[in-house]
Amino acid sequence: MTERSPNLDPTANNSPTKKLRTVMLIDDSEVDRAVYRRYLQTDAEYQYTFVEAETGEEALELYAQCQPDIILLDYLLPDFDGLEWLVQWQRQYKNFCSLIVLTGQGDENIAVQFIKNGAADYFVKDRITPEKLKLAIGKEIALKKLQLEKQDLFAKLISRNEKLERSNRLYQAEIAQRDKLSKIIANVPVVIYAKYVDATSKQPGKLWLVNQEFQQIFKIAEAEAIGKTDRELFPPHIADDFAANDRLLIASKQPITTEEEVYHADGTLHTYLSFKFPLFSEGEITSIVGMATDITPEKQAQTELLQSETRFRQTFEQAAVGIAHVAPDGKWLRVNQKLCQIVGYTKEELLSITFQDITHPEDLHTDLEYVRQILAGAISTYSMEKRYIRKDEAYIWINLTVSLVSDSNDEPDYFIAVIEDISDRKALEASLQKSWQRLSNLHQIDKAILAAVKPQAIAETVIKDIQNLLTCQRASIVTFDWERETSTILATQGVKDDVLNNGLQVSLDIWQGIIDRLENEDKQGYITAHLSQLPKSSEMAIALENTKLDCFFAFPLNSQDNLLGILKLWFEEPETITTEELTMLEEISSQLAIALEQARLYKQTQNYALELEAKVAQRTAQIEEINQELKAFTYTISHDLKAPLRAIQGFASALQEDYGDNLDDLGQEYAARLISSAWQMTQLIEDLLAYSRLCRIEIQLKSVDLEVIVHRAIEQLQLEIERTQANIILVEPLSSMIGNKTILLQIVSNLLSNAIKFVPPKVQPQIRIGTEIIMDSAETKIRLWVEDNGIGIDREHQKRIFQVFERLHGNEAYPGTGIGLAIVKKSMERLGGRFGVESNPGKGSRFWIEGRQR
Ligand code: ADP
Repeated sequence: MTERSPNLDPTANNSPTKKLRTVMLIDDSEVDRAVYRRYLQTDAEYQYTFVEAETGEEALELYAQCQPDIILLDYLLPDFDGLEWLVQWQRQYKNFCSLIVLTGQGDENIAVQFIKNGAADYFVKDRITPEKLKLAIGKEIALKKLQLEKQDLFAKLISRNEKLERSNRLYQAEIAQRDKLSKIIANVPVVIYAKYVDATSKQPGKLWLVNQEFQQIFKIAEAEAIGKTDRELFPPHIADDFAANDRLLIASKQPITTEEEVYHADGTLHTYLSFKFPLFSEGEITSIVGMATDITPEKQAQTELLQSETRFRQTFEQAAVGIAHVAPDGKWLRVNQKLCQIVGYTKEELLSITFQDITHPEDLHTDLEYVRQILAGAISTYSMEKRYIRKDEAYIWINLTVSLVSDSNDEPDYFIAVIEDISDRKALEASLQKSWQRLSNLHQIDKAILAAVKPQAIAETVIKDIQNLLTCQRASIVTFDWERETSTILATQGVKDDVLNNGLQVSLDIWQGIIDRLENEDKQGYITAHLSQLPKSSEMAIALENTKLDCFFAFPLNSQDNLLGILKLWFEEPETITTEELTMLEEISSQLAIALEQARLYKQTQNYALELEAKVAQRTAQIEEINQELKAFTYTISHDLKAPLRAIQGFASALQEDYGDNLDDLGQEYAARLISSAWQMTQLIEDLLAYSRLCRIEIQLKSVDLEVIVHRAIEQLQLEIERTQANIILVEPLSSMIGNKTILLQIVSNLLSNAIKFVPPKVQPQIRIGTEIIMDSAETKIRLWVEDNGIGIDREHQKRIFQVFERLHGNEAYPGTGIGLAIVKKSMERLGGRFGVESNPGKGSRFWIEGRQR
């Protein structure tokens, strides 16, 4: 920079009315710069300040400091040519002013180059005039100003446009947002509503928004709901509840969450969780917006849970058994009243100890083993009977049932224990056990009574049983023989049983004192005595003298009024024996007495039996002999009678036939009677022989076809059938029966002939014969029956007629021998079957026999 420049002090022509302009002169020619200054200082309108630079470098530096309104640039500078400088200047500075190029020579090309690169104008130095320069400067500055203003305007426009666009975008976004919001409000499954708040009364007012959920639930269309108050839409008490909550909100100006009840359109009452918040305008609440969700199911579940919890608590507390929750380490976590009662501790006391603390030591191991198994997952539950030690130190029997509850991680959480007081049952069991023991002992003795027949064996069993039942140092059973005045030790066990052993006989005298006392004092069923009460000289007293035994219990062995002996039990400590044991021993003594008496009777009976047996054998032999003789006699008689009878028959017939004419009527009748009697006699003999034969013969059993037998019997009785015109019907088919042909034929013949015979006079016999199967429990039987329409038999005679010679009628009315049915009876007995009759007088009879089918 030279001294002349910058010429920032425009003193010349300095007028306050002139406007200011700063011109930068870049020219190495002092002269030229002076010319330009002079030209411009003549300007009446503007006052110029000049900033001058001789080199391009200097000009670039100065430009930053002075911010000229215009630059006058020489085309050729010492360090730059004008074009280069222009490019450099523009590169270096963003805001650049107008620039006019001044050059020594006028070259069009250069001028074009400058204009292209941003120069405003181009002058040839020697052609420039003050007016031209001022004009050009004025024009360029004005242009630049215009340009700047335009640029500024443009920039403002753009910025405004951008602002507009931005606000438009925001607006659009807001609209979209609102749209979404109103869709959400409309569709969200939550009841949403908004109502005005009256500015003056501060009361909730008309609804101005209801969403679809609202409309659906209350079945109110939007148009109907909007503009209405709660009171107009809901029952008064419901609307009042809403209003009360609304007023709270209005007063506090804070959102509230509350539960509200409301009826749905279907009439059901629902509970809603309602969130209400205020909308403000200038600090005043203008509206209340509410959002409500139906929590009826949750409420119900909550109520049910509450109820179930209450029930559980009541069950837990009021259960008739002890219930507890116990930690895996045994600590009581929760206990009910009943458990406290059982163990005699208060709840607080129990909760501070463990179940181990109150478990009987003998039961603890088993319980802990179960706990181990349940914790290891080997079992899921267990049950055991065990003892607790109560607070008063008594122990109590309980039944314990335990199961494990696991937490959500499947880790053991706590045990549920159910504790049942079973002390009563246990006591009962114990007494039952005792009773059972007693019964079993007595039973044992009973068995001994049945099994052992000898008194000594019985006594030994009893002594052994007693030793099993209780501990006594010596037991013995002594029996008395009143006749011989001796006593015998039947069985003994314990101290000195080698000296005072079984079978030892001593004089009855030594027991006299005991016997007297038993007879007089025997109120309780036994007496206690001491060794000293026995005669000093007795074997007993001597043998037991130096032992510790002194006291014994003597139980009488009474059978009716007979004292058979005594049961003696010696104790070193007699006070240890219980009343129960004494009662039991009394029972044993009376059983023993019975057993001994029975053994005595048994022996007696045995003797009688032996005697009887001998007598019976003797009698049987005698009877057998008589029987044999009788059989032979019957047979001989019957057989031998036949010959003379045949003679009588023959001669009587001859008399009738040959001498009939010589006989008068009486003679004729005598002859006829003779024949008839002889015939009857023959019949009788035949029957007797048949009967006698039945008793003797050996019978072969076979299946017999009854049809064949019946036909044969009909054949045999053909003459009788024809004579009487009997009508015989066979109810076929007829079965077979195990029996003997001959015997069955004889039976059927007898029954059939009786059926033909025993009809009232002039009545045609109607006879039916048949068989039937009888299902016996053991086997199937066949019954053959013969049914008639005869005179029948009184019930009282029905048994009798099966005996030999038993007849109900005279020979004149119904001839016969009275042996037929006896044969039936004997036959069936021999065939191993049965027989019988069902009959009503005047209505006929049905005789039957029954035998095995196979
Ligand atoms: P008898 O026929 O030779 O008299 P039975 O021993 O056959 O002898 O019969 C004994 C008695 O039983 C008969 O006398 C008769 O009184 C009675 N009796 C037997 N069968 C019948 C019958 N079918 N109806 C009525 N009475 C009968």
